[in-house]
Amino acid sequence: MKQTLLALVVALLLPTATWAKKPKKITKSKDEFINELMSRMTLEEKIGQLNLLDAGQLNTGVGQKGVEDQSILNGEVGGFLSLMGVDRIREVQQYALERSRLGIPLLFGLDVIHGYHTIFPIPLAMSCTWDMEMVELAARTAAIEATADGIPWVYSPMVDICRDARWGRIAESAGEDPFLGSAIARAMVLGYQGDKRQGGQYAPDEVMACVKHFALYGASESGLDYNVTDMSRVRMYNDYLAPYRAAVDAGVGSVMSSFNTIDYEPATSSCWLLTTLLREEWGFNGFVVTDYGSIGEMKAWGCGDLQECSARALAAGTDFDMCSRGFVGTLKKSLEEGLVTESQIDIACRRMLEAKWDLGLFEDPYRYCSMPSKKQKDILYTNESRALARKIAAESFVLLKNDNNLLPLDKKGKIALVGPMAHAPKNMRGNWAPTANTNPNEFSTLLESMRRSLGQHAEVVYAKGSNIHEDAKIEANWEVFGTDIRDPRSEDELLKEALQTVSDADVIIAAIGESQEMTGESASRSDLSLPETQQRLLKALKATGKPVVVVYFTGRPVVMKWEKENIPAILNVWFGGSEGGDAICDVLFGDASPSGKLTTSFPQTTGQEPFYYNHMVTGRPTSNWFSKYATNYTDIDGRAVFPFGYGQTYTTFEYGPLSLSSDRLRSGGKIEARVTVKNTGRRAGDEIVQMYIHDIAASIARPIKELKGFQRIHLEPGEQKTVTFEVDEELLKFYNANLRHVAEPGEFTVMVGPNSEDLQSKNFVLE
Ligand code: BGC
Repeated sequence: MKQTLLALVVALLLPTATWAKKPKKITKSKDEFINELMSRMTLEEKIGQLNLLDAGQLNTGVGQKGVEDQSILNGEVGGFLSLMGVDRIREVQQYALERSRLGIPLLFGLDVIHGYHTIFPIPLAMSCTWDMEMVELAARTAAIEATADGIPWVYSPMVDICRDARWGRIAESAGEDPFLGSAIARAMVLGYQGDKRQGGQYAPDEVMACVKHFALYGASESGLDYNVTDMSRVRMYNDYLAPYRAAVDAGVGSVMSSFNTIDYEPATSSCWLLTTLLREEWGFNGFVVTDYGSIGEMKAWGCGDLQECSARALAAGTDFDMCSRGFVGTLKKSLEEGLVTESQIDIACRRMLEAKWDLGLFEDPYRYCSMPSKKQKDILYTNESRALARKIAAESFVLLKNDNNLLPLDKKGKIALVGPMAHAPKNMRGNWAPTANTNPNEFSTLLESMRRSLGQHAEVVYAKGSNIHEDAKIEANWEVFGTDIRDPRSEDELLKEALQTVSDADVIIAAIGESQEMTGESASRSDLSLPETQQRLLKALKATGKPVVVVYFTGRPVVMKWEKENIPAILNVWFGGSEGGDAICDVLFGDASPSGKLTTSFPQTTGQEPFYYNHMVTGRPTSNWFSKYATNYTDIDGRAVFPFGYGQTYTTFEYGPLSLSSDRLRSGGKIEARVTVKNTGRRAGDEIVQMYIHDIAASIARPIKELKGFQRIHLEPGEQKTVTFEVDEELLKFYNANLRHVAEPGEFTVMVGPNSEDLQSKNFVLE
């Protein structure tokens, strides 16, 4: 009672902070409200809404940074990216509301890519779960955490199809397949935003997603980041556009245009892309933001000065200028000179205001930044979210090899943990988790997790064994934002120490691979094999004759030919996020079973890139070994070391015969492909059953096979389940030479199996 009274007195005495006031109820409709607001806005204020600035707290680009009081005061800014922390965001929002003439709330955006404080595995790893429920849940968790800390708008999902592993940003993607990529795009948008397919306002714990990078950024020539992209429209429609479209169909609120060119025109100013395709064909009605500084970059592409580039970007359908200051700096002049129209500016401004309305910012500008820190603690990085991240991480690991069931290991004896990734605190979470940067040492390394997991049961000895790369200069390129400290000792000394350490161990776990900064943006590699010093370490460990388990950290498919031929057990762990270390131990010691399957093809050599399973048959079909005048290399067997869809677990599955409900599919009807899968091992396990289709005769060349269905099933030992895939006309459609989406009558092959190579097949005819 006393306390309540005291609280009442304090509340009466203290003036209520403006931000803590009750939200105001708006009685006008969205259109009425925005019309009325726009009627009061000056041209400068309208253009101000189109300006997105970098607050500079995170490293994401190379532009000018900082929260500018004067720009806010003048109504010359519509929002900020990379401002973090609810208190700071609230302060800046309050400044905008109270000091700018019209008090229009700012929009705060951030790269929330694979989690906010709770960090999930990198997107490429997440895709290897093939588990849409988990993907959606991860996005949902990120939305709940981000909104609790002031962020209503996130720059995710990244849905670029990537078929060239040299490109570092393959780590941010869902891999090489448009069917799986579309399912993931949909799941992520729904997880972030809830279902906005019919429009409507966001709940306070939902974020607006931003699908990126529109479009084709994943096809950067030679895997070189920021390079030119060039491809036919047919390929674009059939292989690259589907995931963006899936995000739009799922109701995504915003789209980010890409850095690359399309038909030699920067995507930022492609009217065909941003208006004809996106809005007119697909019906997108949110806003388009540029990528970081890409209006400014049009100058470097040779498309004119900033004024001309800005005018072209606006005319093409760009609404929000990220960090180029092109709109805010030149549109007024362009209007005076007739390069743009007032209605173009109005349309973009309206879209930005509509987004703010949908996020509820006009009713309550502090809706995302008023949570007391005590309550935040119950939401950010909780035991529940960490348990979820740990489960998803374990699901994302791919068991590539496991001779004689070397894994799981017993929790006993002496275990030697060796390698530059074994105790690498800054390398655990993955490259695109800036929101966790506040305390990079917060997450356990593999060594720490292993010691904790094994406790008194087994002894763990550790040696680094080598640096990431033998050349300090190259390693420094991978440390721009600070990875783990390079060991000053020579590579010989490190190796010697490792060999001593493992000398009386029962088993060796080699934690090797890429550091996180070898992956992601601006991290193209010309050689996808393990750096030489790590290869030397691995060979020396193998030469000891002891059993060696490789735990491979990577953000891309790498060359693992030698490893496959020489190492008995390989677990690919990508970058597993905040709980990665514990999840690896769960799998290594059998508390969880690995169940991930690859979503990218692992090549034999870098020279095969771009490399993907769903390639064309060609007029001279590939043979597995060289045959003169066929589509093959002279010096390698052209198959993948580990193919798309591949991954083992701790049990075995037996596939019964594939059957089709009919070998004729009538137009408008459907047939079923069925297979029974049995768990023939001694442990329970999850299997991802995959269906592929090949169009045998069509009006244009078609891929050798394309994923058209998948199901993740759980089987107890001895249990069996029949998996059924429906095939209808819709599933057989592709874009023909006239870009019509058609299913052409004729013969098709349907294939079902555990990966893209071990498949049973049956033919049917579409009538
Ligand atoms: C990246 C985007 C990112 C943006 C904002 C750019 O460099 O390409 O993916 O969302 O920066 O940080």
